[in-house]
Amino acid sequence: MNVRANLYGIFLLLSTLSVNAQDAHEVLERASRAMGVDEMISIQYKGTGWVGAVGQNFTPAMDWPRLELSSYTRTIDFDSMSSTEELVIEQGDYPARGGGGIPIQGQRHRTYKVRGDYAWDMQGDDIVPVMDKAEGRLLDIYLTPYGFIKGAMASDPTVIRRHEYGEWVHVVSFIALDKYRINATFSEEGLMHRIQTWLPNPVVGDMYYETVFSNYKDIGGLRFPGRWHQHHDFDDGDTLPNVSGGDHAFGLENITDVTINVRGAELDVPREVRRADPPEIKVEVTELSEGVWFMGGGSHNSVAIEFDEYIAVFEAPQNEARSLAVIEEIYQLIEDKPIRFIINSHHHWDHLGGLRTYVHEGATVITHDYNKTYYQEVLRARPWLLEPDRYSLFPLEEWSEGYVFETVKEKYILADDSHRVDIHLIQGLNHVEGMLIAYLPDEKMVIEADLYSPRPSNANRPPNASNKTFYENLKRLKLDVETIVPIHGQPTPMSQFVEYMGE
Ligand SMILES: [Zn+2]
Ligand SMILES: [Zn+2]
Repeated sequence: MNVRANLYGIFLLLSTLSVNAQDAHEVLERASRAMGVDEMISIQYKGTGWVGAVGQNFTPAMDWPRLELSSYTRTIDFDSMSSTEELVIEQGDYPARGGGGIPIQGQRHRTYKVRGDYAWDMQGDDIVPVMDKAEGRLLDIYLTPYGFIKGAMASDPTVIRRHEYGEWVHVVSFIALDKYRINATFSEEGLMHRIQTWLPNPVVGDMYYETVFSNYKDIGGLRFPGRWHQHHDFDDGDTLPNVSGGDHAFGLENITDVTINVRGAELDVPREVRRADPPEIKVEVTELSEGVWFMGGGSHNSVAIEFDEYIAVFEAPQNEARSLAVIEEIYQLIEDKPIRFIINSHHHWDHLGGLRTYVHEGATVITHDYNKTYYQEVLRARPWLLEPDRYSLFPLEEWSEGYVFETVKEKYILADDSHRVDIHLIQGLNHVEGMLIAYLPDEKMVIEADLYSPRPSNANRPPNASNKTFYENLKRLKLDVETIVPIHGQPTPMSQFVEYMGE
């Protein structure tokens, strides 16, 4: 191709882009008028609906468990990029199956705030800085129709036109916070139908996110969507077996009030939030018995067990950063042995977020048979663009060969001359299907997750359904236990659990 043809190509490209940007601004201006954004500096809307406990489904094929949102208030100031989200959550009539503290007793109050780079929660009158949440909450302002229109107008938007569900729509797109592509679909009259983006997630990588807006009504002088319907991740229901069924994350169905330009929408960042440091990862090691180490220091523990030739670890919680910190400590304690096995209690995301890290480290996953097809998806070495992990950056060969699983149905034994670990299935739980515990007969220890979490905050609560099912299973399996080693909380004598259960 000669130089002139190249220059012509560039000219054509530039003129298409500028026409496109022009068109995108036209679509946005029409939407801004139609949806009342022109005069809007701040907005407050209230309603009721439901929330999904993302990553906490009963089986991988099921939807996120739902809870009732008995009150929801959102206040956003666009000039200062402040947002306050207040939720009151109850169990309601939704089935009590799944994680996330289900069944909820009484009401759970949540207040989430952000202004610019600062984020904090309110717990009663207490201010709790959550610096690592700021970016996500800021992004969430752009994921409302109003934040999107303002953000896209102030940036370099593009547009395409397509035919969808029987009508022509425009899809406008821009990059928020230099990182997140956000797309919004508008009808010909300028009402937003859908917004979509991808969020970084330690289990599924670039996680699909969308909110669908429908049932537009005249409320508070605006054309306001009467139904907000949000998905986190895809429902894979079209394939059999359904590997990954979780998707419904949030629904606002009865809008009670909408007010624009409200007082007090612009937040002041409290002094303790300005001074707060980002959270650091702490690993605190306790030797429970010879060759058995409790890796605590955070919200989720792991346990390392040293065998003659290798190391086995129970649980890979949270994310890659936590797992790398724990693995580094393990390699300090035990030199020159590889982590050969990672035992996974169950598939809830807070217990799964480090699985890729351990498999990348060379470990084989011991998990219940139910989880295998889902974990094959989780362990796929596709590119993660938003927050790449080691697994996506340096893909491993073993996964594609299918060598990374040992699946358990009822019982699995890991043993040599130094240690023995019996892995058992817990039957009859409402929390999750396929829950595994580890029993160390020589040490008389049981390692468990989410079945009994001895923390000071729990001490005065009556035993819950999981506690009871766990206790029944210990009797059924006739395990001689002296110590319970929980993934949440501190190791506790069995006698304390028996007393707690009222026996
Ligand atoms: Zn769980
Ligand atoms: Zn848990």
